[in-house]
Formats: sequence, structure tokens, C-alpha cells
Amino acid sequence: MPYEKYETVIGLEVHIQLATKSKAFCGDENKFAGSPNTQISPISLAHPGTLPRLNERQVVYAVRLGLALGCRINPLNRFDRKNYFYADLPKGYQITQQDEPICIGGAIAAVLLPDHTRTIRIHHIHMEEDAGKSTHDAYPDHTVVDLNRAGVPLLELVTEPDFRSAEEVDIFMNTIRQLVRYLEISDGNMEEGSMRCDCNISVRLKGSETFGNRCEIKNVNSMRFARRAIKYEVKRQIDLLESGGEVLQQTLNFDPVTGKTSPLRSKEDAHDYRYFPDPDLPPVALSEDFIDQIRQEQPPLPWALKQKFQEEYGLSEYDARLLTEHKNDALLFMECCTISSHYKPLANLFINKIKTYQKEHPNTTFTKEQLTEFVAFTTSNQINITVANQQLFPAMAAAPEQSVKSLAEAMNLFQSDDGDFLDGLITEVLAQFPDKVKAYKNGKKNLLQMFMGQVMRNAKGKADPKKLQDLLKKHLEKE
Ligand code: ADP
Ligand code: MG
Repeated sequence: MPYEKYETVIGLEVHIQLATKSKAFCGDENKFAGSPNTQISPISLAHPGTLPRLNERQVVYAVRLGLALGCRINPLNRFDRKNYFYADLPKGYQITQQDEPICIGGAIAAVLLPDHTRTIRIHHIHMEEDAGKSTHDAYPDHTVVDLNRAGVPLLELVTEPDFRSAEEVDIFMNTIRQLVRYLEISDGNMEEGSMRCDCNISVRLKGSETFGNRCEIKNVNSMRFARRAIKYEVKRQIDLLESGGEVLQQTLNFDPVTGKTSPLRSKEDAHDYRYFPDPDLPPVALSEDFIDQIRQEQPPLPWALKQKFQEEYGLSEYDARLLTEHKNDALLFMECCTISSHYKPLANLFINKIKTYQKEHPNTTFTKEQLTEFVAFTTSNQINITVANQQLFPAMAAAPEQSVKSLAEAMNLFQSDDGDFLDGLITEVLAQFPDKVKAYKNGKKNLLQMFMGQVMRNAKGKADPKKLQDLLKKHLEKE
């Protein structure tokens, strides 16, 4: 098979839209889905005489991301103009960082799969602004332009060509999304365009030391499209090489409808954009103190928490991964673990109950007191786990102001310690099935399960199974 002779090489340019209140260089509101052309001002419309002013939050967010990825923070970084003409770019240039980006180098230690740890090196991260949005298919004869997005702050994260498959790209993008949410710098929603990536793709014969010519697929805004686009493009390049052709360095568009890539333009070079330092913006000088302050305020990172959960709480990689998916869950779990050492039952509660419950009731919150009390009752067998999950859990979620104990009492869920209570139930059931009792005494010992089930049902989950089994055996021997 010719395909197996080749290795895929991919590098990404990831655009991350920052969740700042206002735009990168003016006070216009930065929010998604406002009515077209309502979040604009003379500055984002590029009226003559207007000047940009840097939004400090953009710098803080860039440093947060850079520190999380182990980048070197460039203490004197600078904005450049990237010149090109397009209707959704009123200034005629994009403010970006070409020569002196804010973050340099760094790596993401592991693409976080259990059996698969590849280090993806970061080339750099730079600050820039978004363009407006052109819509070509709303009217038959017109393109319409919405400038709400013009000037929205972005970070562009450029990786080295370290990916070897579409799956690795997928995992990396998920990891970056998780990271920007932990850092609270972006909502990371690909569907709303808050994260987009350009995929640079080439192929080479396995074992080859040099890279092949690459193509760049622009503006992929869903991971499903990214996987399809990469697979399509890899096959196209290999077919081309195998038939004696040559891959041309091109910029491509991926059409999700046809599932194919097509040339957008031949690859432009940096000099085509006439980059030069933006004379309207002074260089960005970052003091040690400024960077230190941000370093001290960094939230815990998902991979650090994951490692802690595995090492300190003895959880499996799988559990630790699920628990650290969202920062708030992970932090609450950790708080619970400071007052209870039932780590695994707590993990099960988070993974099996809380996650699914919050999907259906997104605004529910829990406290560490509630959750640890809940787990204390189930692990000590004071409340049957099935009953607790089915009845107590939803009641607890709906009434956060009440103590779990008082809820359980009101619902009468505590298992009965009372021997009389169980005796009564057992006598009742055995009287109901005299034939089965006889069969049991004649050796059909597996009928015990049937009796257990009947009594449990009548006890409405309030019987401790272990105790019941002992009592039941005694009764049957007496009969
Ligand atoms: P440019 O400045 O022209 O966009 P760069 O050298 O900065 O090009 O690379 C842009 C992206 O392309 C980076 O993510 C890089 O990892 C990736 N890349 C570079 N060469 C290759 C290649 N041969 N195959 C796949 N990706 C590549
Ligand atoms: Mg580029």
C-alpha cells in the first residue's frame, strides 16, 4: 500500500478569541451575536484621525497562556501592521505581531492520552486583532459586512510541525480548549468561532529527514471538519506524489459539503503583506513585577490537577481525566477531598451523578458539605447506594439549603438497624412462599437470592443487604 510508506506532518496556527469586555484597541463591546454593526465606533470603523489604545487585559491573557505553556515572555514585544485589502478590514491593515511576539517557545508536554505522549513544541504566541465578518450567501447579489468582530482581541498560537496524525491534532485542540477555559481567557467555543485553526499539512516518506511541501487549510472551525480535511488532504498529496506529481505550496479552503479541499490562492509570502512596526502603538514593555503578579495568580492547570488526583488520591488515569475536564468540578472535588478521604466514592459521585445531572440542570451547584455527607452515608451503609443515587441525590440537588441528613430523614431513607423491622418483613415473605421455602430446605439454596429480592423490595431499600442475608438464613434454618 503506497499510503503506508508515508508519514503525515502537521503544524497548526490556532486563533483564540479572548473573552475581554472590550476590543483590543478601543472600548467597543466584545461579545458574540450582537445585532450586526452595533458594537462599533469610529475607531473600529477606522475613521481618519482615530488612534488605537492597547487593552491591558489582552496582554494579561497572553501572558497567562504563555506561562501555562512554558513560553519565554518577551519583555519588549511590539505590534506590526499586516497590510491587505478586504471589505471587512476597514483600516486596510491588521494589527498583529510579526517580529517580536509576546511569547516565544514553550511546549505542551503531553498530548494527554494514556498510551500516547507526544510533545508539541510551540513556536510562539502573538497578539492580534480579528477582522469583521463578510457574509456572501445571505443575499443573491450582495455581500454583507458585520464589523462587530473587527478589532476583537485574538491570540495566535503557532506550533512547530510536530503532529503526525489528525487524531493528535484533535486531542491537542481539545487540550488547548480546556486550558483556555481553566485560564478564563476565552470560552473556547469552536462553534461560535472563538477557536479556529489553520492546518499546515505535508507528507514525506517514512524515515525521511526533510519535510515535504506543505499546504495550508484556512479557518477550520470544527474538529470534525479538521479531521476530515486533514485526511482528505493527506490522501490527495500522497496520490499526487505517487503519480509522479509535485505538491505545490498553496492556501486551501475546505468545503464541508463536498468534503474536499480546493485552492484559495497560491501561498503568499511575508513580504507580500508589507509588515512594518505600527507607528501608532508604542512597544509593549513588561516588567518582571507585572509578569510575576500574573504568575502568582495563575489557576491550577488541568494536567497538574490530573497528576495530583492520580498520585495523592490514588485514582485511575481515566477517573482523573474526567474529573479535571472542567475546572470548577476539579476544584470542588479537591475541596471535598480535604474533608473526606472517600476519594473513589467521591470520584464516582462526580463522574456518574453530578456530571449527568448538571447536563440536564446546568445551573445546579453543590457544596463540599453536601457531597461529603452524602458519601459518608453511602459508604457507611447507612443509606443504600442505589436509593441514595435515585432518591436522595435529586432531592439534595433541588434543596441545597437543607442538610443532607435532614432530607434523608424526611424521606425516610436510612436503613433500618432495627432487627424487628427486618424480622417482620422476612416472616411476611416466607409466609407468602411456602413452596419455595420447602424447595430451599430440600437443597435449592440459590432461592436465597429470590427471598432477598422480595424482602429488599418490601423494605424499599432500607435494609442493609449483608445484615438481611444473615437474618434470612437464620430464619430459613428455623422454619
Ligand atoms: P508562514 O510564516 O509562512 O505561515 P511558518 O514557517 O511560520 O510559515 O509556519 C507556519 C505553520 O506551518 C507552523 O505551524 C509550522 O509548524 C507549519 N509548517 C511549516 N512547515 C511545515 C511542513 N513542511 N509541513 C507541515 N507543517 C509545516
Ligand atoms: Mg502563517
